[in-house]
Amino acid sequence: MTASKTDRTKTDSIEHVSEHVIVDTPSTSKLNGFRQHTLKTIISCTGIGLHSGSKVKLTLHPAEPDTGILFKRTDVNGDKAIIPASWDNVVDTQLCTTIANDAGTSVATIEHLMAALAGCGIDNAMIEIDGPEVPVMDGSSAPFVFLIECAGTLEQDRPRRAIRIEKKIEVEEDGWYAAITPGDGFSVAFEIDFDSPVVSRQSFTIGLINGTFKRELARARTFGFLHEVEALWELGLAKGGSLENAVVVSGDKILNEDGLRFDDEFVRHKMLDAVGDLYLAGAPLIGHFHGICSGHAANNQLLRAVFADPSNWSYVELRADLTTASVGDHGLPEVTEPALAATA
Ligand SMILES: [Zn+2]
Repeated sequence: MTASKTDRTKTDSIEHVSEHVIVDTPSTSKLNGFRQHTLKTIISCTGIGLHSGSKVKLTLHPAEPDTGILFKRTDVNGDKAIIPASWDNVVDTQLCTTIANDAGTSVATIEHLMAALAGCGIDNAMIEIDGPEVPVMDGSSAPFVFLIECAGTLEQDRPRRAIRIEKKIEVEEDGWYAAITPGDGFSVAFEIDFDSPVVSRQSFTIGLINGTFKRELARARTFGFLHEVEALWELGLAKGGSLENAVVVSGDKILNEDGLRFDDEFVRHKMLDAVGDLYLAGAPLIGHFHGICSGHAANNQLLRAVFADPSNWSYVELRADLTTASVGDHGLPEVTEPALAATA
């Protein structure tokens, strides 16, 4: 991790930090697997949308190699129904990450499902949904990981291509900072600092490899403060939000009867969000992400900054020996931007 002037200042000011670091060792420093994967079978679930409160049916379908992740609204006709899960389709990052296609068809709250797909190493899938919002389930990625594991994964006869970060890219606004730096494999470091005795300051670092996503991040739930949740309800938002699908904090108390799933569940959830949002790059990233008090907007701005300059990144083909080699060395076509190929 390279500390910039900004993050050093912020990090140094952190006292009594709840810190948990999972060190990325050389043997686990590469990405999971070298071939593309899809789902073995079709699988469905139903749930409610966090913001709409409406019942939604979600169906995960296998997809051909090089398809990427596509969303398909089954309540919308024809070509207008397909929305590729790509950073340049992000249209809103206020409460969740929403993507839309050129026809204006959108799907909201995709981040926890995207994180599960990234964490389970699913490169290609068609996600059918009969409404404008992915069901919130329990507010974490765990139900989606369970769904993917029930469907099973299928190795496909095509090498996995990753996006290697070549330069440090930083984005910053008042109160938050996010950066991605070149590195081996994909790792995430995060720091939060809330003016709440329950959440307060937490930091966590993890290398996303060999099941660490499922073990360390997938079960971390979204969270909110009671006064904020009540304000959202007044505005007709977060209608589906409840203690069934979010950790709710009021003063120095956690209102959920069973408490937290991890002592530092809050920072872990922010990392889960980052893993999901960054998977909108269109391929696994090879680099180290560092977020300080950042969220969905920062994650998307960071990807936009990365892809604004072709010299910031390159495609690499993952090899059988789990090392990476440059695309140019292996005869893959030169690609100028990480657009998803919608071949399904
Ligand atoms: Zn979230």
